[in-house]
Amino acid sequence: MKITFLGAAHQVTGSRTLVEWMEGRYFLVDSGMEQGENELEMRELPVPASRIEYVFLTHAHIDHSGNLPLLYRQGFRGKVYATPETTNLCSIMLADSANIQENDAENQTKKNLRIGLPAAVPDYTTEDVQEVMKLFQPCAYGRMLTVDENLTVRFTDAGHLLGSSFIEFFLEEDGTARKLVCSGDVGNTNQPIICDPQPVKEADYLLIESTYGTRLHEKKKEPIPYLVDVLTRTFRRGGSVIIPSFAVGRTQELLYFFREIKQHGLMREFADFPVYVDSPLANEATAIYLQCGTECLDESAREVMKAGENPIWFEGLNTLVTAQESKALNEDSTPKVIIASGGMCEGGRIRHHLKHNLWNENNTVLFAGYQAEGTLGRIIYDGAKAVKIFGETIEVHAEITLLDGISGHADRDGLLDWIGGFDKKPAMVFVNHGDDDSCTGLAESIQERFGITAYAPFSGAEYDLKKGEWIRLTEPVYRKKEGGRTAEARQTKEKEAQLYRSLMEAAEDLQEYAARMKGHANSEIRKLTDRIRDLMRSGR
Ligand SMILES: [Zn+2]
Repeated sequence: MKITFLGAAHQVTGSRTLVEWMEGRYFLVDSGMEQGENELEMRELPVPASRIEYVFLTHAHIDHSGNLPLLYRQGFRGKVYATPETTNLCSIMLADSANIQENDAENQTKKNLRIGLPAAVPDYTTEDVQEVMKLFQPCAYGRMLTVDENLTVRFTDAGHLLGSSFIEFFLEEDGTARKLVCSGDVGNTNQPIICDPQPVKEADYLLIESTYGTRLHEKKKEPIPYLVDVLTRTFRRGGSVIIPSFAVGRTQELLYFFREIKQHGLMREFADFPVYVDSPLANEATAIYLQCGTECLDESAREVMKAGENPIWFEGLNTLVTAQESKALNEDSTPKVIIASGGMCEGGRIRHHLKHNLWNENNTVLFAGYQAEGTLGRIIYDGAKAVKIFGETIEVHAEITLLDGISGHADRDGLLDWIGGFDKKPAMVFVNHGDDDSCTGLAESIQERFGITAYAPFSGAEYDLKKGEWIRLTEPVYRKKEGGRTAEARQTKEKEAQLYRSLMEAAEDLQEYAARMKGHANSEIRKLTDRIRDLMRSGR
């Protein structure tokens, strides 16, 4: 009986843990995709994907579920256990992820073919998603489910995202029983719509996340009065409020707040303000929230339902589906709220809305979450005077503001308090899903507060759950590229990429310039043509 730590080891994405619950029989907890820039190399599965019999999913976020279709492609044909809500969210989020990958591969292929490289292949396709979705076995909260010989599980609400779970594994081998609890992502208390993280009472071993392993959330801004203020002052100026938002989770929370505002008449001056959600994925997710079982909802959301209202639906809510509807919105100057994805403005329809609204001082861009370094969202939030969107320079005159203090993750104290709720404390805690400092910092705090051995293993480490000892500890492996990529080499690489982007932009500008010559005198057109040809000759 052993556990192998593969993904999200000393980093926050790519959650994946392998358990051999009996000799030669394997299951995975999560099968997440790595996102963003990561310094460390994560180990590959040490057994063929076809040998994995089950995958248990803690929740639908792509960094926990995003590589399931790839696992399918590699030969996995077992069962995937998840709550009904996680199953429903996976069906739309994995389809969206496949779509992105297919588009990226298509664009990359165009570029590759021009320079004599082979076509790019997506990691997985829409078909892989359809096939892997057939393997899902929805499993409700609180049910003891015997999955196989010596393998029983129970899902408990983790309060992080609709359907998110802590998973308790009751394992047995040769008469020795062990209980392993995997936290997935631990939710924050008092989030709208969903319940708070529920207690788990006992474990021999605990695997816990550490996204905020050393940090405390700032004191919350009360979101509703804050939104009322922002909306009122923007509408008084005749402007609109543009909100970049993650499609699943945050968008529905915002809808909950707007429904509260309308239901309680908090915007008397502009009671009928319209709200547009411009993201097909967000609208599909909203539909899943609207159908979810009441056991997923917190008390306030249930109260709203009892009163015959829907917690995230209201008069004046418009969901946009087509690109035409999205474009038409920019022609309409009525003050309104536009929620569009993506959350950090790196892609999605939000970029169109920013292009059409950032320049106007009457408008407000309201960020509803953390903006990572280097993203367009962060550049705007940090006060850029102008930004480039779709190759066009857009001046920033709109009001920029942030609704902070709303997070789907427990902070350090939240994590420790949740462990504090165990009646029978685990003998050993493994810490994952956090940056270097966060995972080791949380491990130290756990040792200090509870006197439990806690450790943040690197990818590839193996632990014997029966004997209670390490089989193998591993060293971090730093990603290498082209013979040892140092920080300096990376900077050079980034600089190269940046220069190349500028070149491409200049070429696009030139093309636009040439297009504007239509109808000009023949001599001018000839002159420009010659100059471009000269330029290319001299550039070779
Ligand atoms: Zn998550």
